[in-house]
Amino acid sequence: MRAVVIHAPKDLRIDSFPDAVPGPGEVRVRIANGGICGSDLHYYHHGGFGTVRIQQPMALGHEIAGVVAAVGTGVTGFAEGTRVAVNPSLPCGHCAYCREGLRNQCLDMRFMGSAMRNPHVQGGFREFVTVDASQVFPIAPTLSLAEAAMAEPLSVCLHAAHQAGPLLGKRVLVTGCGPIGALSVLVARYGGAAEIVATDIADAPLAVAKSLGATHALNVARDQAALEPWRAGKGTFDVLFEASGNQAALRGALEVMRPGGVIVQLGLGGEMTLPLNTLVTKELQLRGTFRFDREFELAVRLMGEGLIDVKPLISASLPFESAVEAFELASDRSRAMKVQLTF
Ligand code: ZN
Repeated sequence: MRAVVIHAPKDLRIDSFPDAVPGPGEVRVRIANGGICGSDLHYYHHGGFGTVRIQQPMALGHEIAGVVAAVGTGVTGFAEGTRVAVNPSLPCGHCAYCREGLRNQCLDMRFMGSAMRNPHVQGGFREFVTVDASQVFPIAPTLSLAEAAMAEPLSVCLHAAHQAGPLLGKRVLVTGCGPIGALSVLVARYGGAAEIVATDIADAPLAVAKSLGATHALNVARDQAALEPWRAGKGTFDVLFEASGNQAALRGALEVMRPGGVIVQLGLGGEMTLPLNTLVTKELQLRGTFRFDREFELAVRLMGEGLIDVKPLISASLPFESAVEAFELASDRSRAMKVQLTF
């Protein structure tokens, strides 16, 4: 089979890749769609992010869906031809964090297409993957495989919403309207937020956020005082989903958060400086969020029941043989929201 493999920054190749027959408890899936994520783009442009660097060639991709091609012994619930979303995370199930239910913090996590572990866990941008049956989720007949491949980023945003707490009737700010910010708008709307304000520094993603149900979509590069109306009193937002990883976005948002507000930091911003006095005196709650756990199953279900519609986010699909073109397109925020590869 063939796979989309990163060798070095800007060195993305279509390589032949070893196949694996499903062992006991495993499922072989013929991949149909794979979404390009921000982390895939980091590997493509920079060879990694933070301290994580590719040490050996690695197939990219962890937003994948396809059709069951074979099942190993002992696997029930799937047959050849079942359409499925594939959860890229495989926690060990027995470390201290797994045992206390924090499986996304597993000490021995195997996450597809991630160089955090050495040797790296190969990703899902290939014609077939063989995974543990626990990673495979059948999808509703009404759901396309392209939508199913959005289950992973949607899970990330559902996990962030769990970190935020109840959203019903809340005033929500979303900073950064890439796919994660845009999906956060959808999740906030589904969660019953009364007002959703989205900000970005580019018009194209803001237009998508507006179409997804953002009450206001504001370009804070063009109008730096755009959030001024929400600054009344000590600030008016109950919840912030910070999806840009940009220091200016977080600092600006601190000024418009109401006392006791909850900040959920989704964007990986590296190091930044914050006015800690604002955090202290307004009793703001700064919370991280990392990947997801059982939210994957929830994402598949919410999309399958038509409660969350991710179709407007999928801006282009290219054959995997054109991966370089697809990665370049996905890097251009004026032209692309979520770009998928087809296999
Ligand atoms: Zn574990």
